[in-house]
Amino acid sequence: MQDCIFCKIARKEIPAAIVYEDEDCIAFPDINPQAQKHILVIPRIHMEDALDCHDRAPELYAKLLSAAMKAAKREGMDTGGFRAVTNVGENARQSVRHVHIHLLGGETLSPRMG
Ligand code: AMP
Repeated sequence: MQDCIFCKIARKEIPAAIVYEDEDCIAFPDINPQAQKHILVIPRIHMEDALDCHDRAPELYAKLLSAAMKAAKREGMDTGGFRAVTNVGENARQSVRHVHIHLLGGETLSPRMG
């Protein structure tokens, strides 16, 4: 998508410190981290949110989940654990309409989920 910021990151038109990439997905640090370690994992192609991706491209959705686990391991987040979250739509305050999984860790997280 032309104006989507995450599409631009995926096309490498906007710089990001990519920590994991494969044929379908990339992972990079969140610009406004909510935990000591905060990584975003996205598919290269534009899907609005997790529901859209699951409905229109279920194989890609599975690859995205797998890429998230690989990125978490690559970042050493498997030691000590982490939270994997995806916001869908307005109620969840999804602010970037390109599906992404937040990986949060590097410290003990708040017990609150929202
Ligand atoms: P969400 O509210 O779930 O849509 O999360 C969007 C996330 O994208 C937020 O945590 C932002 O801090 C993050 N974000 C927005 N622009 C960028 C960017 N250029 N590079 C990295 N993270 C970004």
